[in-house]
Amino acid sequence: MDTDYQDITRPNDLESFWMPFTANRAFKKNPRMLVEAEGMHYTTADGRRILDGTAGLWCVNAGHRREKIVKAIQKQAEKLDYAPSFQMGHPLSFELASRLTTMLPGYDRVFFTGGGSESVDTALKIAIAYHRVRGEGARTRLIGRERGYHGVGFGGISVGGIVANRKFFGSLLPGVDHLPHTHSPENQAFTRGQPAWGGHLADELERIVALHDASTVAAVIVEPVAGSTGVLIPPQGYLQKLRQICDKHGILLIFDEVITGFGRLGSSFATEHFGVKPDLITTAKGLTNGCVPMGAVFAKQGIYDTFMDKAPEGTIELFHGYTYSGHPLAAAAGLATLDVYKEEGLFERAAELAPYWEDAVHSLKGTGPVIDLRNLGIIAGIELEGIPGKPTARAMEAFTKAYEKGLLIRTTGDIIALSPPLILEKSHIDEMFGTLGDVLKTLH
Ligand code: PMP
Repeated sequence: MDTDYQDITRPNDLESFWMPFTANRAFKKNPRMLVEAEGMHYTTADGRRILDGTAGLWCVNAGHRREKIVKAIQKQAEKLDYAPSFQMGHPLSFELASRLTTMLPGYDRVFFTGGGSESVDTALKIAIAYHRVRGEGARTRLIGRERGYHGVGFGGISVGGIVANRKFFGSLLPGVDHLPHTHSPENQAFTRGQPAWGGHLADELERIVALHDASTVAAVIVEPVAGSTGVLIPPQGYLQKLRQICDKHGILLIFDEVITGFGRLGSSFATEHFGVKPDLITTAKGLTNGCVPMGAVFAKQGIYDTFMDKAPEGTIELFHGYTYSGHPLAAAAGLATLDVYKEEGLFERAAELAPYWEDAVHSLKGTGPVIDLRNLGIIAGIELEGIPGKPTARAMEAFTKAYEKGLLIRTTGDIIALSPPLILEKSHIDEMFGTLGDVLKTLH
């Protein structure tokens, strides 16, 4: 007998699933269940339509339930459900890698993973192993940044700079140092786009390198735009300067583009937007439009060639990989997603809408407890004045009230982040900021 799992829209057993990054006990008192999605909207279990202000978790860049992507996944599931990722191949993963390299000239190799955290761990491991196979095995140190988010693997939380992600989990990776974050309310509040102040903070890398000696440093990893810690836009010249200092000292530069990849800034990737070329790029999310979990690491050809040249013929050049690297369903979803992006010109569309988006974001100045507004591409950060002793309370109140009014937003601390699907219309922008403005005025 067929089971229609779709009937299970109101589970009465909320006891078994240990939810990620969620206040589990609070959720159970007021479960927010999503049962359907299409285009810019979710439908809740109680039949309400919710405008998706966050593209899921920054991943559904082409909007929900796109027919082309759904069909590609269905077709693949009926043909080849799984193929071993080690020592075996299937055509779609090769095709997807090839298509991705044409999107990002200069990055000729793609390593597939199961998501953003795995992409980060993969990139960090490639960086360390790269130096080792070149005969510079002392280069093991990794440099991240305060307020960086690089997923939840031990590598990612070690180079990341979020105290709550770190303090419960032991001593983390050894040999990690952190750049200061680039956010300064006094010097940057209400900046449109990239702040003029703060490029000099990249010079801190020189200080850290001098402390440890360049011969011990493998890589620097940063998000070009930090998303999960409240939308921190890189100051003008900052990323360029990091690139120069890394070049000077033979250190690899990694951009974590898990959220900035696939059109979010109005270009394919942030590397293109800022004109700065890192050595490795991590990505995930928009790669498959969020439909099937998948991540990827882009590597410059020289990095790949180093592994190929140094390893004896017939041996595994990089001893690393995942059961689900290049999964057939994910590869099918990825190919169809790239088609949708291209056919609908969604990256260009994001670039065209960005000025309208910027005006809408900054129209919230002076509304309720807003103390800063930040934007780039189709991303917004709305910072609220915190209630003393109750960090996160105001933003959580905004989240709950916005959800009641039919808008999904995301919060981190007392900062609201918006990153809707790139298929949005100006009317969606008006609705989003109209609803949010109403909510902000009612906050305690
Ligand atoms: N890096 C960055 C910059 C991210 O924003 C995220 C997820 N928000 C990750 C890594 C982790 O991705 P995942 O949750 O797919 O492991």
